[in-house]
Amino acid sequence: MNHKGILIVVSGFSGAGKGTLMKRLVQEYDNYALSISATTRAPRAGEEDGREYFFISKDAFEQKIAENGLVEYAAYCGNYYGTPRDYVEEQLEAGKDVILEIEIQGALKIRKQFPTALLLFVMPPDIQELKHRLTGRGTETPEVIDRRLARAAEEAEGIEKYDYIVVNDDLETCVEQLHEIIVAAHNTPFRNEEFIEKIRKELKVLAKGEK
Ligand code: ADP
Ligand code: 5GP
Repeated sequence: MNHKGILIVVSGFSGAGKGTLMKRLVQEYDNYALSISATTRAPRAGEEDGREYFFISKDAFEQKIAENGLVEYAAYCGNYYGTPRDYVEEQLEAGKDVILEIEIQGALKIRKQFPTALLLFVMPPDIQELKHRLTGRGTETPEVIDRRLARAAEEAEGIEKYDYIVVNDDLETCVEQLHEIIVAAHNTPFRNEEFIEKIRKELKVLAKGEK
């Protein structure tokens, strides 16, 4: 079976709980490697450079683009965000399931480059709760919150492009659901082509021997 790592993209509206879910997922299970993105946005209180993000200047970001150092990148609400290439390639090679917590434009670029990537979309139970979580986090001004909610309306138009939606109502239930979907995704035929081919060859050899 497929023991290679797969690439997992997790998107969702701002405030849906992606960051919280991803931290839990890597704490509870061994096989996940969470990619740390580069961004030009300023750190929030409590965020550390190299932990939540690599916080870099616009010039440094553009340098990374020029060096082909990012697997994908996108602009979101006035800032650049991108996925550093080296970590993703190293961790996949090492057999880890690599999680990219990224927005929809980046998600679609990943799907093109990595056709076996699994695309998951985290939904809030309802929009009142989303607003409540986004305000309750206390990290953005009301103006930025409004921009992020407007952006959510745009992102909602692309949800059909994802493989699964997962509702983040109870946190623990959602973490388990995400894990179960990922485990099942490993067992799809198109992610196991080499294994299936090997079995087919062995069957042919066996059939010849029995003639
Ligand atoms: P995102 O990364 O999607 O923008 P966060 O992980 O920062 O969202 O979560 C937004 C806020 O909602 C945070 O204050 C977080 O503690 C809270 N939150 C996340 N998941 C849940 C949940 N299942 N129930 C209640 N609050 C949640
Ligand atoms: P935030 O500012 O709330 O941390 O992130 C804003 C948005 O940018 C979220 O939708 C998040 O998933 C997305 N994002 C974070 N890192 C990346 C990245 O490397 N690439 C892309 N395309 N989006 C990202």
